[in-house]
Amino acid sequence: GAGRRFFVGGNFKSNGTVEQIKNIIETLNKATLKENVEVVIAPPALYLLLARELIRPDIKVAAQNIFDKGPGAYTGEIAAQQLKDAGIDWVILGHSERRSIFGESDQFVASKTKAALDAGLSVILCCGESLEEREKGITTQVVTRQLGAVADLVQDWTNIVVAYEPVWAIGTGKVATTEQAQETHAEIRKWLEAAVSPEAAVKTRILYGGSVTEKNSAELAKQPDVDGFLVGGASLKPAFIDIINSAP
Ligand code: PEP
Repeated sequence: GAGRRFFVGGNFKSNGTVEQIKNIIETLNKATLKENVEVVIAPPALYLLLARELIRPDIKVAAQNIFDKGPGAYTGEIAAQQLKDAGIDWVILGHSERRSIFGESDQFVASKTKAALDAGLSVILCCGESLEEREKGITTQVVTRQLGAVADLVQDWTNIVVAYEPVWAIGTGKVATTEQAQETHAEIRKWLEAAVSPEAAVKTRILYGGSVTEKNSAELAKQPDVDGFLVGGASLKPAFIDIINSAP
C-alpha cells in the first residue's frame, strides 16, 4: 500500500540441487511477471553465484545468512563484503529457523544487519512470534523487541525490508488470517514511526511470510500494510510466479 513497491522474496532454505536450481531459474526467466514488483530469490549459499549468472537481470539474489565479522579467520562463514564482491545484493537475516535452530539472539541478528548494511547490502529482516507468544497476547512485544535490537544499532532503514513471519505459520500450512497479518503489520508500522522515524514508517516495506501460496496471496496482498511476501515452500514451485503476479 501507500505507493510502496511490492516485494516478493523466495527463500529456498536448504533445498535444491544444481539441476533443480537451474530449472527454477529457467521457469522464472520465461515467466511474464507483473511490472514494478521487486523479486528476490534466496538459494543456498553454494548456488548463489550460479543463480546470479543465470537469473534474469530484473530479479535479484539474496543470501540466507552472513556472519557479522570477517573476511578473516571465521571458518565456515561468509562475510557481508564477500557477498557484495560476488554481486549478491541482498541477505535474509533473523529467519526464525536461524533463531530457533541455531540460537541466534536479537543482538546477533542486529549486529549482522548492521554489518550487511555497512557493506552495502540490502536486508530482509525477519521477525515473528511463536504460537505460545501469540496465545499469551504478546505478539507486538515480541516483534518490536526483535526489531528494536536492530533500531538500537541502525538509524537508516532505507535498505531494510521487514518480513513478519509468525513462527506457527512457517512451513505448517497454517497461514495467518488477513486480519492477523494486517493487524501486526500495522503495529510494526506504528512502532517504526516511534522508534525509527515517520519516514521509515511510510517507506519501509513490510512483507508477510508463513505458508503463502497462490491461493491465499491475492487476499493478503490487498491489506493496506502488506507490501509483499517472503515465500518458503512455494518459491520452489511454478506457483511462485502466481504469487508474484498477485501484487495489487
Ligand atoms: C519462510 O521460510 O520464510 C517461509 C515463510 O516458509 P513457508 O512459505 O514455507 O511457510
